[in-house]
Amino acid sequence: MLKTLVALLLCLEGVLGAQPPAARKAVPPKTVRLYVFDCGMITFSAEGVARYHVTPAEVGETRMPVPCFLVAHPKGTLMWDVGVIPDATVEKEAAAGGARYEVNPTATALVSRTLTGQLAAIGYRPADITFVAISHAHKDHSANLNLFATSTWLTRPAERAFMWQPGNERVEQSFYTKLEHSKSITVEKDEYDVFDDGTVVMKAAPGHTPGHQVLLLQLASTGRVMIAGDLYHYPAERALHRPPPDNEFDVRQSAASRAMIEDYLRKTRTAMWIQHDFAANAKLKKSPAYYE
Ligand SMILES: [Zn+2]
Repeated sequence: MLKTLVALLLCLEGVLGAQPPAARKAVPPKTVRLYVFDCGMITFSAEGVARYHVTPAEVGETRMPVPCFLVAHPKGTLMWDVGVIPDATVEKEAAAGGARYEVNPTATALVSRTLTGQLAAIGYRPADITFVAISHAHKDHSANLNLFATSTWLTRPAERAFMWQPGNERVEQSFYTKLEHSKSITVEKDEYDVFDDGTVVMKAAPGHTPGHQVLLLQLASTGRVMIAGDLYHYPAERALHRPPPDNEFDVRQSAASRAMIEDYLRKTRTAMWIQHDFAANAKLKKSPAYYE
């Protein structure tokens, strides 16, 4: 009996010990910082890859990472995209090596680290985050929205309507029930300057969903970066000029957004980060390291 109890306590300590140590509460940085978190990986069937008008041979690696991003600005913080499986589920499945979730019949996600744990490691709690925004409401970008019900939600009306549209199978409404009545700012303009100094700007790029948007950052040493949501999924779609997937909310609008964004990137000399790009993501510095 005693032996069992000791074993149980040791086991419990092992589980608790696996949690990252809570860092000291973060202080606002002097210049804008960008943190990249590991919010999971999606594996596709051959049929799933074909949806993007590319072949496994053309893309090489068919898996798609799911990153989440935190922008820390001197005047506050912005959480951008929040993963594919809620933290509570990931915690429950920790002993099994992570949580699995069928995003759709062609795509399965595996998540082994919580967003809350990764935020805690750099001194933030979800309740500390000033603003939350998503590139779009698909299941692999919105899983932890409920954690940010005390943040101010920056949302475009078209996406908000899409999120609560009855019978919408492209979203998981339980991921964001708490946002229905949370504090929000309705973003109507093409470009929305989050901290009013041009360093963090959300820009409309509709088509993938009705209110799909990208995030533009002006970083002191890294330079101009666009975190492009799902404007593309595989970099091969862009390099090979393939048309958008047939299951986009509006294929023609997606194609127009891609053309507009490519033009914008050229004119402003901005680098594009495709969020689901496996090779590019593998090279990104991950939190606690950051871009500035
Ligand atoms: Zn996605």
